[in-house]
Amino acid sequence: MSREREFLPACTLAEDRRLSIDRLYASYEKLVTQGGWGRYLVCWQEISMPDVPLEEKLYVPIYVYTNATPNPDNPNRFIEPIDGVLISTVHGREPAGANTFADDDCTNQLIAAGEDFKIALLPCCNPFGYFWNLRCGTQGWQDKTLSVGECEALLRPCETPASFEAKHLTQFLSKFDLSQAVGIDLHEDPFWEDVGRQYEDSHGTYIYVVRPENRESPLTLTVLNTLRANHVPLLEYGKTRFEEPIINGIVVGGNDGSLDEWLAMKGVTPMITVECLLRTPNDPPLSERVGIYTRVLEEVFDQMKTS
Ligand SMILES: [Zn+2]
Repeated sequence: MSREREFLPACTLAEDRRLSIDRLYASYEKLVTQGGWGRYLVCWQEISMPDVPLEEKLYVPIYVYTNATPNPDNPNRFIEPIDGVLISTVHGREPAGANTFADDDCTNQLIAAGEDFKIALLPCCNPFGYFWNLRCGTQGWQDKTLSVGECEALLRPCETPASFEAKHLTQFLSKFDLSQAVGIDLHEDPFWEDVGRQYEDSHGTYIYVVRPENRESPLTLTVLNTLRANHVPLLEYGKTRFEEPIINGIVVGGNDGSLDEWLAMKGVTPMITVECLLRTPNDPPLSERVGIYTRVLEEVFDQMKTS
């Protein structure tokens, strides 16, 4: 049996009504069929648990979607510089991003934005984690350490290896000129996992920026104002459960070895990570979080047009 056969499970174990992986991917495909975008394989990720026998192992693809033109003379480059990098569901148990990009409104917005901008979209960076509702990929799911976005070893000498997926994701993203791009990474903060840890207000959103100078960037302010306008409040001040200070709704992420830091190192600025607090896996409900993230992206595209 080929280890690289395409298999998209129709079921999902979560009870938050997230789309199955095959429905996610069918929705993303509209970018290709209706928008004329390209779909490119980053790598195959094992979706079965690592302890199943070899003949039962199943793999799903991780894709990049882009309307940039591949360079016919150099398979390792795309021609135009990228204006916007959009990524989501690096942590699998944070499904709002992957589901937002599968929403028809969002797909239509992306296709429309693609008329004016070159976009690189990675809508589901961790299908394994998404399927099993786990933070990490096949390598780190047990000890919850090695995220699929673990780039520390690609940024600085260190003992933690980059994850299998991070190596492939960064290798593919290196084909793009990202020096003029802005970046949005849709995460969520399932703080209920830390028993006993509480935010002052367990209901809200906040963002990370990689660089301190991005606190005042027009796009940062646009994202913050969009979150402020929502019925789920923006957490203006406080601390995350990792003791990071939130000031005006912002945590300055700095050097955390994440894919976002790697993107910032490649010139993506501002690089913004959006977070929504989850009191339980489905509170606030997934549909509400998708609504918030859809509005954020809508305002991001508008802001790109005016700048
Ligand atoms: Zn996350």
